[in-house]
This record gives sequence, structure tokens and C-alpha cells, in this order.
Amino acid sequence: MARYTGSVCRLCRRENLKLFLKGDRCYSDKCAFDRRSYPPGQHGQRRGRKISDYGIQLREKQKVKRMYGLSEKQFHLVFKKADKKKGITGTNMLVALERRFDNVVYRLGFVNSRTQGRHFVRHNHFLVNNKKVNIPSYLIGVGDVIEIREKSRKIQAISGALDAVVRRGVPQWLDLEKDSLRGVVKSFPVREDLTMPMQEQLIVELYSR
Ligand code: SF4
Repeated sequence: MARYTGSVCRLCRRENLKLFLKGDRCYSDKCAFDRRSYPPGQHGQRRGRKISDYGIQLREKQKVKRMYGLSEKQFHLVFKKADKKKGITGTNMLVALERRFDNVVYRLGFVNSRTQGRHFVRHNHFLVNNKKVNIPSYLIGVGDVIEIREKSRKIQAISGALDAVVRRGVPQWLDLEKDSLRGVVKSFPVREDLTMPMQEQLIVELYSR
């Protein structure tokens, strides 16, 4: 399935939630969702539409998938792997999404959005345990040290993102050493660390139909 290349702000409006896909803009008064918090399209402002159980489950899946910037195929694969693991499938899935390398560099504040994270990871701007890793879906483990490569430290987008991370905050399962531009994974995230509104059970129900 091809990657979505349209306006990402439409996705926030469709999911009725700020998904924070555009970095700084999401915190400014230019945020499209803050300006027009109704679904996009000709019938976006129509009221009282009934939505089926399937529709509710589908919207929840689309929301989380779009938040992490994955295609349907990638997202379904994450779900299938989570389903095979011990424990609660929905939680396993969210933890796996959080452990993705592109998400971790975003959480650490090295980039402004997951999309930028994926882009910068692909362009070899980061090291994991002193080794080049350029795979956005790489799963980060406990104790891993993530660093910005020496030659990439002056990139304005990275230094700007680090300044902006104060607004967002670094989750407690990660440790950011801002002076040395490195981050350490202290533990795996737990469900309580994920504060965006997500009802993962609905996604499990959708894929279990
Ligand atoms: Fe969503 Fe950010 Fe666009 Fe606002 S600016 S609608 S939060 S992507």
C-alpha cells in the first residue's frame, strides 16, 4: 500500500484529535485542528451521523496507525507479532510501536515528529550503542544508548527539536542527556506511560473479526 502523501492535518481532523504530526506547527496558532476541529470534506460539518461498532473500531485503528505514521501492512504486522506474544495483545502492540527507533528519537526530542525521525534515521544521523542503525522499525531495547552522530550535531532541525522538547517532555522510561546529545533506554514503556487517548482493545476487536 502506498504511503499517504496528502495533508497530514486532514488526518487529525478526520480522527478528531491532535496527532502532532507537524512538529512546531502543532503547538502554534496555525494548527488546522484548532482552527477547524470538524472532519474534512464537503460533509465534514454534517451533524448526528450514526457510526457502527465496526466504524468505531476502524477509526481507532486508523488513529493509532496514523499517529505512528505506519502503512496498513506495517501496522497489521506489528499487531500480528503482538498477538503471538504472551500478555495483553493491545498493550504489547502499543509497547512495540513505542520501541520503534523512529519513535524513540522523537520521544527523546532529537526530531520534531515521527516522520522527521524516520527521515533522519534513514539518513544515518543516529547511532545505537555506537553503531550506525538506519532502520526506522528497529526495536530499541533496555540499556540501549542512542546518540546523534558527531557530523549531524550541527543540523538546525536537530538542535531546534532539542530546544522544543521542553514543551513536550521526555517520557520517564527514557533518559535524555542533553549536554552529550544522547539518550538511554531505562526500561520498556508501560501502558501508563502512553498518555495519548488510545483504546487499543477496539483495534484488537477489529483485527479479530
Ligand atoms: Fe495535527 Fe499538527 Fe496539523 Fe494541528 S498542526 S492539525 S496537530 S498535524
